[in-house]
Amino acid sequence: MDRYDVCVIGAGYGGATAAALLAHAGHRVALVEKTNVAGGKVQTVDRKGYRFEMFGAVGIPAHNSRFHELVDVLGLADRVEFLIPEGEVASVRYKAADGEWRTMRSALQQTGDPKEMENLRRVFGASDEDLAALAQLYTAVLTVKDEELEALDEVGMLEWMRGFGLPAPLESQVCMNLNTLFVVPVNRLAASEAILTMRQQVLGGAGRYSVGGYGRLAEACADYVVEQGGIYLPKQRVVRILVEDERAVGIETDDGVLRARVIVSNAGIQPTVLKLAGREHFPPEYVERVESLEPSWAIAGYRYVLDKRIFDAALIPIFSDQSWLDDERFAGMERGDWPDVPLIAIDVPSEFDPSLSPIPGHQIANCQVFCSPDPESSMGEEAMRRAEQVLDELWPDLRDHIIRKEPYSAKAISGLSRDSVLPGCGGEAVGLAQVVGQVGKSKPDPRTPLDGLYLVGCDAGGRGAGTHQAVDSGFNVAAMVDAALG
Ligand SMILES: Cc1cc2nc3c(=O)[nH]c(=O)nc-3n(C[C@H](O)[C@H](O)[C@H](O)COP(=O)(O)OP(=O)(O)OC[C@H]3O[C@@H](n4cnc5c(N)ncnc54)[C@H](O)[C@@H]3O)c2cc1C
Repeated sequence: MDRYDVCVIGAGYGGATAAALLAHAGHRVALVEKTNVAGGKVQTVDRKGYRFEMFGAVGIPAHNSRFHELVDVLGLADRVEFLIPEGEVASVRYKAADGEWRTMRSALQQTGDPKEMENLRRVFGASDEDLAALAQLYTAVLTVKDEELEALDEVGMLEWMRGFGLPAPLESQVCMNLNTLFVVPVNRLAASEAILTMRQQVLGGAGRYSVGGYGRLAEACADYVVEQGGIYLPKQRVVRILVEDERAVGIETDDGVLRARVIVSNAGIQPTVLKLAGREHFPPEYVERVESLEPSWAIAGYRYVLDKRIFDAALIPIFSDQSWLDDERFAGMERGDWPDVPLIAIDVPSEFDPSLSPIPGHQIANCQVFCSPDPESSMGEEAMRRAEQVLDELWPDLRDHIIRKEPYSAKAISGLSRDSVLPGCGGEAVGLAQVVGQVGKSKPDPRTPLDGLYLVGCDAGGRGAGTHQAVDSGFNVAAMVDAALG
């Protein structure tokens, strides 16, 4: 029976980051992952030479990110090269109230220059007064002080934004962006989280990718663990966390037992507490809280391989004023009351890195829509059916150029990354919803009440959007565990 300082369950971005940083700090680390490859939801797969992510992959911020910090700390710059496309590589498709589709090409970092202002006038019909309101909103985003941010943990973003009086089309653009970043209703999205990430977007841009695929840094972290004397075990599912004398002391996989002084789980708070460790090891009020936590929504979609360049940009958001989502609109969709255009986000990884395709000129794209995180729900299929109608309208020749089309929904997300241990949960795209009541002081602590058991990833310990939050958590949790190990 092997003994380690730390055993990390799951090599998603949270787990891979924590494992590599703890190995860097000199601890003997075992990293155990149930799938073939590190990266969790954004792992990069190879299908007949075409490489792409299982689920979308656009890093925010693009510059000065936690990803950059991780590469620097671990000295991985020769293995992980970030790609940030230059120029007008985003192409917004906005269906105006008169039914006309309008296109706006833009860079991935907004500067507020005159051309951008002109675009906002043309596409969203913005007046001088509207643009002044938008400028005020962004000024506030950049200048809110840290102590004010804490109070904004308790304020919904839509309410905060509405104080600036944006007209409907500009409000749609901001809300669409927030839905895409956090995959939660904008009315309950914590204003603090939204403001922090919008600030990162303004200062650092959007659209960081890495040569060879978005999962590249997680793969390098797993290799790093091994190089520092630890082990990385892919294709091994952890079935149980071993508890002795009310302390987590190891994990069990189908291949046997690993013992460690500390267990760090990236498997999600509910699967970790309710399934892997077992509720009997936690105080009843903690279990009750864990059961009541709200997941983010899921994202359903299609991964396309195309024999021609159909999409003209790396990022294509598609929306109308009815598309962005708060609780009321989402509940309407669940009842079958759909907007004219479901909110669609298309990422085109081959525009970031053309070498992802073995055949020059072929395109790899991921079309995403929003739906329930319940793996049993059929909402994802309906959302995709409606999204396809919009794609047919905008790209009538798309269907003639499909080499490969892989549909996915909440069930696939849960199957790949996170067990469904409570009704309605498992398919969450991000992790815990970053809504009022679940962020800041109200976010679960990475230290669980079971001695020796920590959480890492988007459920605890980090801030930011998607993978950036997972890596942030990895840094913070590694520091906590390092201190605890002494
Ligand atoms: C369709 C879609 C699009 C997205 N787009 C973006 C985007 O563009 N940009 C962005 O930043 N974020 C995006 N996200 C969100 C982002 O993918 C997640 O927030 C992030 O990857 C979560 O990281 P994590 O470390 O918390 O967990 P996960 O990525 O879920 O990793 C958990 C890991 O634990 C492993 N595991 C679980 N249980 C066990 C077990 N019992 N034994 C062993 N291993 C186990 C899993 O296999 C997995 O590798 C998207 C998500 C989806 C679904």
